[in-house]
Amino acid sequence: MIHYVCLGDCGSVIDEFGLCESSDCSQNGLPLEKCKCSDGLHSSLFDDLGEETDNNM
Ligand SMILES: [Zn+2]
Ligand SMILES: [Zn+2]
Repeated sequence: MIHYVCLGDCGSVIDEFGLCESSDCSQNGLPLEKCKCSDGLHSSLFDDLGEETDNNM
């Protein structure tokens, strides 16, 4: 299931694309990253930065 994750301090996870709304977060006002992990670890966001792995399911 697709979800969107803030890579900043707040770690927000929401179902629809949006911006980080946490004023305390380093990513406040920046768009969330799309993720499709099923374990809640968002490992694809943190392990594969700078690597194209869209087809690696
Ligand atoms: Zn945030
Ligand atoms: Zn995820």
